[in-house]
Amino acid sequence: MSDGLYDVAIIGGGPAGSTAATLLAQAGRRVVVLEREKFPRFHIGESLLPFSTTTFDRLGVRAEMDRTFMPKYGGEIVAGCGTREAKFYFKNGFRSERDRAYQVTRSEFDQLLLNNSRAKGAEVREETTVQKIMLQEDRIRLEMAMPDGAEATLEARYLLDCSGRQTVVGNFLQLKKSYEHLQKFSIFAHFENVDRPNGIDGTLIRMVRGLDRWFWMIPLTPTRMSVGVVMDTVSFRALKLSPEAALEKCVNEQPLVAERMTKAERVTPVYSAGDYSYRNVRLYGERWLLAGDAAGFIDPVFSSGVYLAVMSGEKAADTLDQVLRDPFHKRKLLRTYERGINSVMNLYVRFVSSWYSGKEFMEVFMNPTDILQIAPAVNALLAGNAGQSFAVRWRMWLFYFFVRAQRFIPFSPRLSLVPAKADEVAPEIAPIPA
Ligand SMILES: Cc1cc2nc3c(=O)[nH]c(=O)nc-3n(C[C@H](O)[C@H](O)[C@H](O)COP(=O)(O)OP(=O)(O)OC[C@H]3O[C@@H](n4cnc5c(N)ncnc54)[C@H](O)[C@@H]3O)c2cc1C
Repeated sequence: MSDGLYDVAIIGGGPAGSTAATLLAQAGRRVVVLEREKFPRFHIGESLLPFSTTTFDRLGVRAEMDRTFMPKYGGEIVAGCGTREAKFYFKNGFRSERDRAYQVTRSEFDQLLLNNSRAKGAEVREETTVQKIMLQEDRIRLEMAMPDGAEATLEARYLLDCSGRQTVVGNFLQLKKSYEHLQKFSIFAHFENVDRPNGIDGTLIRMVRGLDRWFWMIPLTPTRMSVGVVMDTVSFRALKLSPEAALEKCVNEQPLVAERMTKAERVTPVYSAGDYSYRNVRLYGERWLLAGDAAGFIDPVFSSGVYLAVMSGEKAADTLDQVLRDPFHKRKLLRTYERGINSVMNLYVRFVSSWYSGKEFMEVFMNPTDILQIAPAVNALLAGNAGQSFAVRWRMWLFYFFVRAQRFIPFSPRLSLVPAKADEVAPEIAPIPA
């Protein structure tokens, strides 16, 4: 099959790939998306951040998103011992301009974005798996397996790898480096009839943090909830249980989750994911660029994955459009892209590492203070405000300072994070100050 030369070929039609494809097509580029699955397909990563909204506006999907998905006004984090919980609302974030994000069923969200790419002029080929990459001086050549099993090739000036955790280019060029201290394992499924509060609080992501594991509860529709648990990979192996049995055991051991699931009915298979948190040592080459999870995957404890995918897909599209217009400045443009994406990923790696470093993160987080507006700055990062504003950055430094200091001097009350027996304690609620 001969297709002529594309400007950009994109591997993967998830949020990173479809965002980039739409923007490149809108810029008049000849772009093709190669997606190995037939959409809709199940995917995890359902809780979004408000700072993606400007990109959704650029893609022209905001109105449809508003019609289709649940709003998300913030989150709540509960100490696994049941003695403290903190709610945060995006409207109270530092210099907040957005009060909400979305909780999405990914099969529908990804399909909406990919259909939009098609409608805006990108060519989308589903059930097409990229099997081999050949890098040439002035183009890239891809070998693909087609829906009927036949093989085909395609050529493009540039390749954008948005293949998610498959990291097609990262594996091919051996660029992938794991974060050893973030090797986690997660188990999750969708349930109907999980209890939740009424009103705005019923839209919050709920996270329950135990000593050696944490849970998420994400409301996806008025009746459906995504429930998952994350633990060290070694802890999962030590359980010697199937994912189904391990999820059931973990839920039963945590009353703060179990009490909401007494009437729950599981409506999907139990899924699991390992291979957590890695980065590629380079995000660009002469003819290729990486975006989304294909660039790096940061443990999604703060729901940063789709935000990073959409943000890097957008920046990659803008960068490639500029490179095609102004090849003379290619190196500089690609370097700027890499630096920008790495600096945002660094912010989340630090935040996530702090969460896992011990109980101190929870002890400080559960005692939000209005001093110097540190709590609103943390809230801003939780909303995806990674714009490197110095005002947010220095407040985050102070937050990390308090977390470290808490190890030696208990400024905030200590927490055990060990589940209490039922009826033992009622949590003290600490809303994060505006
Ligand atoms: C347990 C868990 C919980 C998470 N929770 C959240 C959350 O609450 N909020 C959040 O924002 N993020 C979350 N994430 C992260 C989120 O899932 C990802 O960051 C996000 O999906 C990345 O989007 P992407 O477009 O880069 O990759 P993907 O969405 O994975 O898309 C990649 C696409 O590439 C295709 N592909 C792969 N290989 C090939 C190939 N060879 N040829 C053709 N196509 C190919 C795949 O089929 C896929 O459709 C979570 C992740 C995990 C593991």
